[in-house]
Amino acid sequence: MTVIDGKMLAAEIREELRVKAAAFRKERGTDIGLAVILVGEDPASQVYVRNKIKACEEVGIKSFSYHLPAETTQEQLESLIDELVADKNVHGILVQLPLPKHLDEKSALKRIPAKKDVDGFCAENVGNLAMNRETIVACTPFGVMKMLEKYNIDPSGKAAVVLGRSNIVGKPMAMLLLNANATVTVCHSKTKNLKEVCSSADILVVAIGRAKFVKADMVKEGAVVIDVGMDRDENGKLCGDVDYESVKEKASYITPVPGGVGPMTITMLLYNTILAATRG
Ligand code: NAP
Repeated sequence: MTVIDGKMLAAEIREELRVKAAAFRKERGTDIGLAVILVGEDPASQVYVRNKIKACEEVGIKSFSYHLPAETTQEQLESLIDELVADKNVHGILVQLPLPKHLDEKSALKRIPAKKDVDGFCAENVGNLAMNRETIVACTPFGVMKMLEKYNIDPSGKAAVVLGRSNIVGKPMAMLLLNANATVTVCHSKTKNLKEVCSSADILVVAIGRAKFVKADMVKEGAVVIDVGMDRDENGKLCGDVDYESVKEKASYITPVPGGVGPMTITMLLYNTILAATRG
């Protein structure tokens, strides 16, 4: 069994991105810029935003950080987004989710044009992905594809099962695997015979947000197991959706939590920002 080292791979890619960001600066005489909007005081969101800003600094992307109070109105949020859309120094715009409940997430995100949508969430970017056209791809599933590529795991002709169908992970993950010629099955909370379906997978990607949900009896001998989950176990310790200790005995490749998919997600955000800037 091989442990897929997301931390190491993320560091390698960030090094390449640092070179690209420096080349952009040299050629165009300006930095690549990412605007990050955080509304309210959610502690987890604050940590994510801090990590994103730190990662930008590491590779030489200029970050513009906006921390708005929890009582920000829809109009205030959207007028900030509009300003950033018009700002030529800002190549990517990221609104940290979830937004406070009184705000309309869909309406706010709709104001970000596809070319500055570095999260790859907007309908145009998702539509392009569905049609297997060049696009900005959602960071987490994009990071998973980079991991497979790095470890020479070719999805072509393989049975891939994606557990979870969220717009930010499960669905784009399924489309990427399909575009890579896997035969893809998507499972969710209404799926019958989950154990049988999961154990048919050559590549199993799990993104459901349930601590250690996938046990060894749901995994085929020799399967590649990618754990997107970021959960807390009974002792409050960070863990994934996969029961790592038992599943690692059956898998041929497995991602740990932490140190697997997580570090790749932020790295692909940086990648997307550089892509957005160079495309102009
Ligand atoms: P989400 O929006 O809550 O979606 C969860 C999906 O899992 C839904 O499609 C749901 O089915 C399905 N599901 C839930 N319980 C299930 C069960 N018992 N059996 C089968 N399917 C079940 O979650 P998400 O945003 O995709 O995130 C999933 C996990 O990934 C979370 O732990 C999150 O923290 C983590 N995550 C990690 C990263 C990273 O960078 N590592 C990035 C994003 C998310 P229904 O659609 O039927 O409700």
